[in-house]
Amino acid sequence: MTDGEIPESHPRYESLLTRHRIEEGVDKGITSRQGLIAQGRGEAFDYLLGERTLPSADDAERAAAAHLLLAERPVISVNGNVAALVPGETVELGEATSADIEVNLFNRTDERMTAIADHLCEHGAGEVKGLTADGRIPGLDHERAKVDADGIGDADVVVVPLEDGDRAEALGAMGKTEIVIDLNPLSRSAQAADVPIVDNVIRAVPAITEHARDLADADRETLESIVAAFDPDEALAAAERAIREGSDADAAED
Ligand code: ATP
Repeated sequence: MTDGEIPESHPRYESLLTRHRIEEGVDKGITSRQGLIAQGRGEAFDYLLGERTLPSADDAERAAAAHLLLAERPVISVNGNVAALVPGETVELGEATSADIEVNLFNRTDERMTAIADHLCEHGAGEVKGLTADGRIPGLDHERAKVDADGIGDADVVVVPLEDGDRAEALGAMGKTEIVIDLNPLSRSAQAADVPIVDNVIRAVPAITEHARDLADADRETLESIVAAFDPDEALAAAERAIREGSDADAAED
């Protein structure tokens, strides 16, 4: 089955498409088998959230765009699931926000690093960082700590979709502004984020790009006021409410 063979009218179109891309990612050596488990966990939360972007997530996506436009050295971190699900969309986000793209894996192997970098280049990426690995994140074991010194090592704002909790906390401790995309509002990564985006990466990445294009001509003051108005605790609480109280419970938040 290819992407085009899934009928768009299918009630679970997006979920089928997502599964199909992850399966393909595993076949191509881009996504790890653990990535399948992460996908399953994400799907369960997406189901509970109603498989749509909550208004609070849209606010977070706008705040993320403002942070990236204000940043001096923004970097988007890409793992095997992100590369399989949104390769072209990640490249577009990089272009819209002048952010570098860096491959970063929980289970780092040279083969998978190279396969992901090649896959991103096939989807339009110019330069892909992560292969040099001449920098370290303090407080993590050797393999997990590796980053490019002039990439994530030196970044002021990092987008870490589907990051594991330890690394998210360690990056936060380095003083970086962290934008996390994670469907689980209770995950340590989401809790550690300056901007937690509780949304599917498939919807979130294009949404941040759209906000960035919309804000491209905004002045610093406007961007700073968007950043200042965003409350991460409130965003997480809104997502938890939506899960607990049903799919329309967040409607009253706006
Ligand atoms: P933590 O260590 O932060 O508490 P974890 O151990 O659950 O989190 P992993 O299993 O490493 O984290 O990563 C999976 C995370 O990614 C889950 O929280 C899951 O909800 C999220 N996730 C999986 N697929 C998607 C997706 N398509 N979009 C957004 N988030 C996703």
